[in-house]
Amino acid sequence: MPHPKIHSTQIARRRKLSVSDYVSGVLAGDRVTIGRAITLVESTLPAHEAMAEQMILQLLPHSGHALRVGITGIPGAGKSTFIEALGIRLMAQSHKVAVLAIDPSSALTGGSILGDKTRMQELSANPSAFIRPSPSEGSLGGVARKTRETMIVCEAGGFDVVIVETVGTGQSETLVNDMVDCFLLLLVAGAGDELQGIKRGILELADIVAVNKADGDNVERAELARRQYANGLHFMRPKLPSWSPQVTTCSARTGAGLDELWTLVMAHRKALEAAGDFAAHRREQLVRWMWSMIHERLLTALREDPTVRALISPLEAAVSNGQVTASQAATELLKAFGIAARS
Ligand code: GDP
Repeated sequence: MPHPKIHSTQIARRRKLSVSDYVSGVLAGDRVTIGRAITLVESTLPAHEAMAEQMILQLLPHSGHALRVGITGIPGAGKSTFIEALGIRLMAQSHKVAVLAIDPSSALTGGSILGDKTRMQELSANPSAFIRPSPSEGSLGGVARKTRETMIVCEAGGFDVVIVETVGTGQSETLVNDMVDCFLLLLVAGAGDELQGIKRGILELADIVAVNKADGDNVERAELARRQYANGLHFMRPKLPSWSPQVTTCSARTGAGLDELWTLVMAHRKALEAAGDFAAHRREQLVRWMWSMIHERLLTALREDPTVRALISPLEAAVSNGQVTASQAATELLKAFGIAARS
């Protein structure tokens, strides 16, 4: 006979939940329900999407209290080691940490640069942490929307630090920047002043830059890199007047510099709050979110429209072989969708 506790959990897992079951389970901080609520958010079935929308609406007033931190860096920069080490420290300070991911490769190919399965094992085993890999279906915009809603579920479920991780390839940083309060760029030392494949645009988004792997023989090189980045950033226009981006060094492996780094994250929050920018930044994000949903929904509706659908392939072919200009084709597709050309 199965253990009664396991047995009841298994039954709970299988039972169909109503919107109010989801809401009450999430608000009670029940991990199984939180996981299922996120699965609901990620589902592409129309019935699930309608339920998810209701659920999010009810959870929304209970969200927003977490500190939202974005983390990016090229593969190998040490993101998962760093998040694990930082997460463990935060949990020791009684924080509850949710780690979400936006993996542009999973949106495009169903693959995974972030390779979530074996990562952050210590964090995943801890009940104060919740790790969710990148949703793997749909456009990058769709993935970002789902991650945003997942963030609402986690916050309503009692997580007070939400980390959104992405890969520093340039495709998803803006999306992550649009959903977090503080954006952290993880770099590795030893590459001199070259930007290690990190595009300048990503550097411009960073509120805090951390040169990781500052340990062993790498300490001096890390310090040199820190100074070079600090110099470089000095000449960039800050995102907000209330905060100039800071560069620091750390070692995710030894833990050196992690407390100082978190102190910087808190200082960033304080500086923004003092200037009234913290709430303003979130309000702007909401407006941008509205517009990105309009973009996404309009595009989906356009692509799914039967008249438009029949025209897409022939027009794409005609544009690519030069028979029709891109502008003519766009006008034609929009016209088929009922949007008149601008005079
Ligand atoms: P990710 O691809 O950005 O998530 O990077 P990982 O966390 O998987 O780390 C890539 C490699 O760098 C692994 O072999 C880690 O053990 C190593 N690594 C990560 N952080 C540090 C660090 O602070 N110091 C050193 N020496 N190695 C590190």
